[in-house]
Amino acid sequence: MHKTDSNIIAPRQRASTFCRLYGNFFFKNFRSPKYLSLRPLRITVRHPGMTKKRILITGAAGFLGSHLSDRFLAEGYQVIGMDNLLTGSLDNIEHLFKEKDFEYYHHDVTKFIHIPGKLDYILHFASPASPIDYLQMPIQTLKVGAHGTHNCLGLAKEKGARILVASTSEVYGDPLVHPQTEEYWGNVNPVGPRGVYDEAKRFLEAITMAYHNYHGVETRIIRIFNTYGPRMRVNDGRVLPAFFSQAIRGEGLTVFGDGSQTRSFCYVDDLVEGIYRLLLSDYHLPVNIGNPSEITVMQFAHEVLELVQNPKAYIDYRPLPVDDPKQRRPDITKAQTLLGWNPKFDRATGLKLTYEYFKTVVRVG
Ligand code: UDP
Repeated sequence: MHKTDSNIIAPRQRASTFCRLYGNFFFKNFRSPKYLSLRPLRITVRHPGMTKKRILITGAAGFLGSHLSDRFLAEGYQVIGMDNLLTGSLDNIEHLFKEKDFEYYHHDVTKFIHIPGKLDYILHFASPASPIDYLQMPIQTLKVGAHGTHNCLGLAKEKGARILVASTSEVYGDPLVHPQTEEYWGNVNPVGPRGVYDEAKRFLEAITMAYHNYHGVETRIIRIFNTYGPRMRVNDGRVLPAFFSQAIRGEGLTVFGDGSQTRSFCYVDDLVEGIYRLLLSDYHLPVNIGNPSEITVMQFAHEVLELVQNPKAYIDYRPLPVDDPKQRRPDITKAQTLLGWNPKFDRATGLKLTYEYFKTVVRVG
C-alpha cells in the first residue's frame, strides 16, 4: 500500500545509469568526423510517466483532498497523497490505490516532510476543518496551520515547486463587511473557541506571503467558503452532514440559535475547478472561492427536509455557539475576472448529488 522510497527512486536511477553507460559508449565510439557529419545522434531515455507533473496533496484522505487527488490524476498528474488520518479516512481514497500514478504517504505534516524525487506542485490541505474538530483538537489545528505550513513551504523552496495553500473564509471572522472581498481584513476573536482555526489560517497566509516575498517561492492562497458534497464525514458536526444525517434518521435537525445566521454553500466540484485554475494562474494574493448564493441556516434546514421527505424529522433549536459568524457570502469578482471561474452547480443540483451519497453512508436505527 505505502510505497517505499526505493520504488520511487529506482526508475530515476535506472535512467541515469543508462545515460552514464551508453552515453560514454556513444561518445567513445562515434566521435570520428564520419559520424559527426551525420545528423546529431539523439538519445532519449523515456521512462513512462517521467514527463508527467508531480504534485503533493496534503490532507489527501480528507473531503477536499480526496476530490483534488481524483481531479489531478484525471488531468494526468502523478499524485502523492499525504495524510495522518486524524480527521481523514482511507475510505475516501481507497479507489486510488490501484492507480499507477498515485502514491500514499502516511505522514503528519507538522513533522519534517521528505519527498524523494522531483516535485512540481504542492497543495496544502491538511487541517481539521469543522468547528467541532478544531474545538476538540485545538493544538493540532494550530500546529498544522503553523508548523505544517512552514514545512510545506520549506519543501516547496527546496524543490522549486509551486505551492497553493488552503485558507478559509474564517480569516474574516464574524465579518462586518458584506459580502466579503479579499481586501477586508476581518473581525476575528483570537482568544475565542474558533480562534485556534482562524488564527492558524491567518498565520498560514502570513508565512506564505513571507516565503513568496523573501524567498521568491511561487505561492497561491485560496480562501475557501463553505463547501459541501460527497465524502463529507457524517459526524463532523458541520451543518450539512448534521442536517442530512438527522433528516435521514428521522431525528430533530439541530438548528443553532434562531437559524437566522447566513452561509453560502459551494458544491465541491466547483471548488475543485477554482483550485485547479488558481494553481495554474500567475496570481499570488488571496482569492475567494465560494458560491455567492446566500441562505439562512433555517432555510437550509427546510431545503434538506424537503429533499429527504422523512415525516419523522423536525426542527430542534439549540444554543448558538460562541462567535458563530452571523453572515457569510463571498465576493467572487477576483475569481471571475482573474480565473474566468464561476460556480456551475446550483444548490438544488448539488444537494441532490450529496443526498445520494449520504443515503449510502448514514446508518439508520
Ligand atoms: N449549524 C447548525 N446546526 C448544526 C451545525 C451547524 O445550525 O448542527 C450552524 C452553525 O451554527 C453555523 C452554520 O450552521 O451558523 C454553519 O456551520 P458549520 O459548522 O457548517 O460551519 P461554519 O460556517 O460555522 O464554519
